[in-house]
Amino acid sequence: MSKKLTSRAEDYSKWYNELVVKADLAENSAVRGCMVIKPYGYAIWEKMQAELDKMFKETGHQNAYFPLFVPKSLFEAEEKNAEGFAKECAVVTHYRLQNDPDKPGKLRVDPAAKLEEELVVRPTSEAIIWNTYKGWIQSYRDLPLLINQWANVVRWEMRTRLFLRTAEFLWQEGHTAHATKAEALKEAELMNNVYANFAENFMAIPVVKGVKTESERFAGADETYCIEALMQDGKALQAGTSHFLGQNFAKAFDVKFTSKEGKQDYVWATSWGVSTRLMGALIMTHSDDEGLVLPPSLAPNQVVIVPIYKTDEQFEEISKIANLIKSDLYAKNISVKYDDRDTYRPGAKFAQHELQGVPLRIAIGPKDLEKGTVEIARRDTKTKEVIALDNLTSTVETLLEDIQNNLYKKALDYRDSHITKVENFEEFKETLNNKGGFISAHWDGTIETEDKIKEITKATIRCMPVDSEKEEGKCVFTGNPSKGRVLFAKAY
Ligand code: AMP
Repeated sequence: MSKKLTSRAEDYSKWYNELVVKADLAENSAVRGCMVIKPYGYAIWEKMQAELDKMFKETGHQNAYFPLFVPKSLFEAEEKNAEGFAKECAVVTHYRLQNDPDKPGKLRVDPAAKLEEELVVRPTSEAIIWNTYKGWIQSYRDLPLLINQWANVVRWEMRTRLFLRTAEFLWQEGHTAHATKAEALKEAELMNNVYANFAENFMAIPVVKGVKTESERFAGADETYCIEALMQDGKALQAGTSHFLGQNFAKAFDVKFTSKEGKQDYVWATSWGVSTRLMGALIMTHSDDEGLVLPPSLAPNQVVIVPIYKTDEQFEEISKIANLIKSDLYAKNISVKYDDRDTYRPGAKFAQHELQGVPLRIAIGPKDLEKGTVEIARRDTKTKEVIALDNLTSTVETLLEDIQNNLYKKALDYRDSHITKVENFEEFKETLNNKGGFISAHWDGTIETEDKIKEITKATIRCMPVDSEKEEGKCVFTGNPSKGRVLFAKAY
């Protein structure tokens, strides 16, 4: 087995990078800023996808697929959106390679194969989708239009980190069209709630629901709702966003509908997305110095069974029991892997499953055969107990539920003890440097103050929480009147 991980206390960032690679989740690729998601990492992402997809369908959405490329003329139609993303766009200019006459064995771009119109590789799909919606929406009967797409997008990020920020990433993007402003606003809030619900109940990650400030808002949106999570190093992570787009895209693409009363009006829009960044959030929220810790609801294998034997007879006996356990647990919808590889010793298997965050490990040895018992170990608390085979299924069910709840509670306790109210800028800086986490402070509502605080401290306004009590006060920086507290943090 490879040597131990760097500890979180020693170097959090190094710990994260090592963990992602050693737990076999993902690795860097030959393409700058783009990652390879390995089968184990992809299995976790698929579980996230499956659950989110179910939640989208339960709230009335359907999946569809739109092109990867956006003609430049369409991309630039909504000016603010185009301007916001321009710096991160990959652009296709040619459609053919040919043999290079000067360099045998090499290829070059065929100068004769220049595209008449350049194609932007989608950094987000509003433009191509709203250009399509123009043909789909004529009357109020065509509304609401509730569509989601699972796709990859490209944003030419300069500083990338596996899962957290990559140049190409996988995500889903919802794009909806509505007859009224109120309905679109309700949709944007609803989907932010769906994200919060998913984060808390499936990922066991507590999140703050909030609204972004103007400077952090999605380019082309009138309002951006978000969920913000807190990582174990005290830095915040934007885990999902849901945008109220007003009539901006409808106006840019001339998408109008005839109302019941026979009046023409522009359509109201939303878009919302979560990405493979959620994998980063999952890893950073729960994992420890021994490796990944997974909530049972997202673990590809919730239980692993490891045989401990000396003789072939013992192995056969243990395998019989293991297969019975497997079918009993399967019947309860619990995923189980029987690790009967004879190429690794039990100790190495234990280490691997610990590193990969399997929630429960069952070990069966010769003594257990005699006594009709097994040893069961929890990944989260690292506690072990010997239990009778008869009680195994119900014990596993209880333990998995307990692990899911325990992880959420642990993360919630950490998060709640890292929201600090401050009343002046000295306290602000001191808290940020010594403790980290979210800082709840009054802000005068201006971009200038937000920028200055960011310049001095590197902390940004993560959101204006939607569930907090209204409280007027004085801005921590300028002393000017403030309408309410906002959450600042250093963020990923
Ligand atoms: P946006 O379209 O900018 O609102 O982003 C939608 C979702 O994708 C948000 O949850 C972002 O946190 C996430 N996201 C944005 N940029 C990246 C990136 N480079 N890598 C991974 N996820 C990202």
